[in-house]
Amino acid sequence: MGWPTVLRMAAPTTSDRPVRRPALSPSRAGDFKQCPLLYRFRAVDRLPEKPTKAQVRGTVVHAVLEDLFALPAAERVPERARELVEPAWARVRQERPEFAELFGADQDEEQADWLTSARELLEGYFGLEDPRRFDPESRELLVEWELPSGVLLRGYVDRVDVAPTGEIRVVDYKTGAAPREHVEGKALFQMKFYALVLWRQRGVVPRQLRLMYLADRQALAYSPDEGELARFERTLEAIWEAILRAGRTGDFRPNPSRLCDYCDHKALCPAFDGTPPPYPGWPEPGAVAESAADRVD
Ligand code: SF4
Repeated sequence: MGWPTVLRMAAPTTSDRPVRRPALSPSRAGDFKQCPLLYRFRAVDRLPEKPTKAQVRGTVVHAVLEDLFALPAAERVPERARELVEPAWARVRQERPEFAELFGADQDEEQADWLTSARELLEGYFGLEDPRRFDPESRELLVEWELPSGVLLRGYVDRVDVAPTGEIRVVDYKTGAAPREHVEGKALFQMKFYALVLWRQRGVVPRQLRLMYLADRQALAYSPDEGELARFERTLEAIWEAILRAGRTGDFRPNPSRLCDYCDHKALCPAFDGTPPPYPGWPEPGAVAESAADRVD
């Protein structure tokens, strides 16, 4: 795997996922850029990966922030957010019972510490903005757009805010502990992806892309312009072309880097004396849609 991702609970399992056209998501595009073989393992072979506590904590924190905005504005206070943590974790566990296995024999204490760390991230959130002061337009928004070349872009946006003037702000919460310099480039790629899709869907270039790093209580704001997003669109088309080329031949090459330390598939990687499973062929429509672990964090 790459840097910690958030495991999105809303994603259906493979068996009940409706058949959809292959699509490009920010995470899968990022995987291919990082390492074509990693892309293959995740999107084509669909090899399972073991979630980390940080990933699952990110899922819980995202769920709490989503629930928080469902409350009346006056109730969106730190204490209420803290109260929402346990129910959110129970919901996540119900949907993915295997997450309970994250904790060892000392389960209670370990889990309590982990839940405390989720509450600390929420404290970090309140250090960045006051959610009583606005109502988001959307939370956990699925966005899709087909480019003229036929590339289908698909992703989930944490939050979209629309000002009375019509200006759009795209917000993404980052809950991982990875150093900022490692995640920033990937995060901006993801945000430009969302900005492009929203621009194409709504005809308005988002005024601001806002990344909120909850662990270190810092926010990064970025304003894209039309020319930049148009160039980014061409970049995505080129990435998809390259994916399709590799998909036809099965030639997904490893690209070793420091990020290999975070890859679940090292044992199968030729860069580490491993042997990949036989290439299963380019997947049928639907199989390259977003998986449960598809967001940079
Ligand atoms: S271990 Fe291999 S497959 Fe994984 S990221 Fe590194 S080069 Fe790619």
